[in-house]
Amino acid sequence: MSSLPVLVLNSGSSSIKFSLYEAGNGERTRLFEGAVDGIGTDQGKFWIKNASGTKLVDQTPEVPSRSVAFKLVVDALNSGQFPAPAAIGHRTVCGGPTVRENQRITPQLIDEIESYADLAPLHTPIAVYIMREALRLFPATPNFAILDTYFHRTLPEVATRMPIPTEYVAIGVRKYGYHGISYESIVYQLQPNVPEKLVVAHLGNGASISAIRKGECLDTSMALTPTSGLISGSRTGDIDPGIMIFILKKIAATTPNTLDAAEKLETVVSKKSGLLGVSELSNDMRDLREAIDAGNTKARLAVDKFCWTIARWIGSYVAELNGLDMLVFTGGIGENDIASRAEICAELGGLGIKLDPARNNVRGAAVISAEDSPVTVRVIPPLEDLMIVNHVVRLLGE
Ligand code: ADP
Repeated sequence: MSSLPVLVLNSGSSSIKFSLYEAGNGERTRLFEGAVDGIGTDQGKFWIKNASGTKLVDQTPEVPSRSVAFKLVVDALNSGQFPAPAAIGHRTVCGGPTVRENQRITPQLIDEIESYADLAPLHTPIAVYIMREALRLFPATPNFAILDTYFHRTLPEVATRMPIPTEYVAIGVRKYGYHGISYESIVYQLQPNVPEKLVVAHLGNGASISAIRKGECLDTSMALTPTSGLISGSRTGDIDPGIMIFILKKIAATTPNTLDAAEKLETVVSKKSGLLGVSELSNDMRDLREAIDAGNTKARLAVDKFCWTIARWIGSYVAELNGLDMLVFTGGIGENDIASRAEICAELGGLGIKLDPARNNVRGAAVISAEDSPVTVRVIPPLEDLMIVNHVVRLLGE
């Protein structure tokens, strides 16, 4: 095939990230990447840099809305500096029970994805807005939805089934799993020697962990929504469901409208909990490490809770895989927070996980386990955009 410029769009509640690859004959070259951050503020950030890291755009515009943010991206793409995309891949966090395959975007598909926005309320509304705009502004260009849930399609029913009445299962309540494109990219980078029994911990602002057998997902910590599983920046992770009912009743006492009460509860579990809730300081690991160094005991407890929870999940996945060959850390914390990796692994010697402190003292890709560790421990940054480009090229039939 001849070389095709493929645009990747990856939006979150307050940012739009994008990159343009040249794809052809098995080669993938990133030409540039960029982002608009701080959507909803009067001091956003808009930057684009080329493959050698030179900033082509570096601005601090007002970005009051997602439409202003996406217009910045589109105007830059149309400025003549960059090749016009031949195809666009949209990172799609969740398509609910019916949209399970990566596929070409049509107006009907967007409606379908939007109908499950409640499952990923931070990501889906802006993603469907951008899909509609992309179809309108680039009508001749094929657009594709590439799903984070796709990697988790191999989960067995015993993992996906929730122990609740079937009437809720029938309306889509099940484990979907998230961060799938990141997990897929780790397996991709380990080829051709993908270990049989692999655990990958994606520790970013949102955190999840997966058990992967022979390259296929066996279990993952996030379930119906990204709020579940591990404690993360501002989300609870798994907690006693009775706590939800208890808090909801408290909220309902002063909020008679049921939907308003549910939204307040959602704010509590998604935005005010996790590292932020326990530390009462920040959802950001860098802030918490600084505070710990300064003797802040609440920050210490928050990070202890985080590391303790992850160690317990690793233990349960070793049981599920019936052993472990390799543990991989990825995501902003997994790649950069040397202390978290050390604290998570500190008590896992009995499972064959032994870090080498000198090797662990790195940021970025490395083997960090000791020479005599039965389990290899690695740090591998995810290549999500590259995976999206690979899916787009496959779907184009090239
Ligand atoms: P997102 O889920 O938003 O993509 P990231 O994968 O970028 O999040 O991870 C963000 C987290 O990574 C934050 O908690 C941040 O503090 C942490 N992080 C980033 N760089 C470092 C670093 N050098 N040391 C410790 N933590 C870091």
